[in-house]
Order: sequence, then C-alpha cells, then structure tokens
Amino acid sequence: MKQNYLQDLFSLSGKAALVTGGGRGIGQVIARELARAGADIAIFSRSGAAETVNLIESEGGKAIDIIADVTDEASVKAGIDKIVETYGKLDIVINNAGVCYHKDAFEASVAEWRECLDINLTGEYIVCREGARVMIEKGTQGSMINIASISGHIVNIPQRQAAYNASKAGVIHMTKSLAIEWADKGIRVNAVSPGYVATPMSIDPDFVEPELLAAWDPLFPLHRMAKPEELCGAIIWLCSESAGYTTGADIIIDGAYGVI
Ligand code: NDP
Repeated sequence: MKQNYLQDLFSLSGKAALVTGGGRGIGQVIARELARAGADIAIFSRSGAAETVNLIESEGGKAIDIIADVTDEASVKAGIDKIVETYGKLDIVINNAGVCYHKDAFEASVAEWRECLDINLTGEYIVCREGARVMIEKGTQGSMINIASISGHIVNIPQRQAAYNASKAGVIHMTKSLAIEWADKGIRVNAVSPGYVATPMSIDPDFVEPELLAAWDPLFPLHRMAKPEELCGAIIWLCSESAGYTTGADIIIDGAYGVI
C-alpha cells in the first residue's frame, strides 16, 4: 500500500487560496480546512477575519485578512493584488460571501433585491473575473468554487426569499458559463449547493425567527442541518488536482432536502 496516497491525491500544499466571507460561518470552516490541506489562505470580508487568521496560524498555517467588499471592483482588484504580493500567485478561489433576506416580494424593497443580487451574484462574478485575470496572466491552472445553494434549485418554504433564490440560481448558471469560457485557459469553475447548514445565517435568532426554525425542522430528511465541515471534503477535492476533469459541475450537498 502506497504511503500518503490520500494526502497526495487531495493535497493543496503550495497553493494560494482566497476564501470570500471567511470571517465566520461556512467560510471560516472552509478556510481552516483548506489550510489543514496545505493551502496558504487569504480572506475577504467587510468587517475583518482576525479570528479565522488566528485559528489557522495556531495550527501552523498561513493566512492573511483583507478588507474587501466583493461588490466593489476596485476593492476586489486591490485585494487580489495583495494576495499576489504576499503569495506570488492565486490558485484557488472560494466564492462564499453571501447574504439572505426573508421577505415576500411586496415587503422587500427594490434596494434589498438589488443588494442581494449584488452581493450573491455580481460579487461572485467580479471575484471570479479578477481571480481568473491573475490566473491567466501567471499561467496558473486554477480552481474556482462558487458557493450556490439548494435555493438555486428549489423554492424553500415557508419563508419568502425570491431575491436569494434567484441569486443562487444565477450563480449555478454563471458557474457553467465561466467553466466553458475559461476551459481553454486551464481554469476549472464549479459550484457547491448546500442545503441548510448550521451557521449564524440559519440558526442565529438575530437572522432567523424561532417559528421558522420550528417550521424547517420536520423538513430535514436527516433530521438536522449540515455541519459546515460536511461540505469540506467535496470542496478540497474540487480544489485539488484529482478533480482535474471536473468543471462546470454543481455538487448538491443537502442531505436529500431537494429530492422530496
Ligand atoms: P454568514 O452570514 O455566516 O457569513 C457570510 C460572510 O460573508 C460573512 O463573513 C460576511 O462578512 C461576508 N460578506 C457578506 N457580504 C460581503 C461583501 N459584500 N463583501 C465581502 N464579504 C461579505 O453566512 P453563511 O456562512 O451561512 O453562508 C456562506 C455562504 O453559504 C453564503 O453564500 C450563503 O448563501 C451560502 N449558503 C448558506 C447556507 C446556510 O444554511 N447557512 C445554505 C446554503 C448556502 P462581512 O459581513 O464582514 O463582510
């Protein structure tokens, strides 16, 4: 039996990875797991990611905290320049930053609709585009993973969230489109669509009403939400060279929520 076979198969050693929205929630766990797999990490957020950087450094990894708003082209370009200045390149992009509002179509303002589309869809587009620009310049065989959602496939109930659902459906098709656009450049672009994951966005009473949590509970085929860690095996695989023939895919990790 070959020693270190699995390590070699999934190693991210020597890779530089950007995780947007890595200051908390799913992004924090992805950043930590990519670092454990060997990648050097950069995090974009609006309010800072010191806790994530400390976590990674305490385990012997490398991480930098960059204040960048994914909706702002100049801020994204400056953030990516900082990554190249620090690590010399960019190999992996995890487009994870996102927001969700629970408001029906009449209750939500057009400004809220635009903000949701702007962060969840346009933000991922800007980060993909600026990330790909640097990968192409440096001849990097890069991997991008856009965090979509089961909400891009089905309409969640009972909450009303048309803007969120539309933004995530857009992420899935944008992913396929960019996979084709950059196939010749050696850049793979895939999506991951989680079901409900236990993070502040889905369990914190500041974000989610208790009645909603009670309404969701009987809908989970596995009788629980996912833990963020349960997304990371697939994400590490997509980042690694063993996924070299996987591009334009959307991996649903929803505990069969979308099947019924
Ligand atoms: P959280 O609300 O816990 O974290 C979102 C992160 O995104 C924060 O770090 C936030 O940092 C960052 N962010 C938001 N807006 C911007 C912006 N304009 N620029 C840069 N960073 C930004 O969310 P989750 O961890 O729960 O979700 C992460 C992703 O997973 C999202 O795309 C979400 O839609 C998706 N998802 C989540 C599910 C769930 O059940 N939790 C299910 C399916 C998909 P800051 O505010 O400091 O900028």
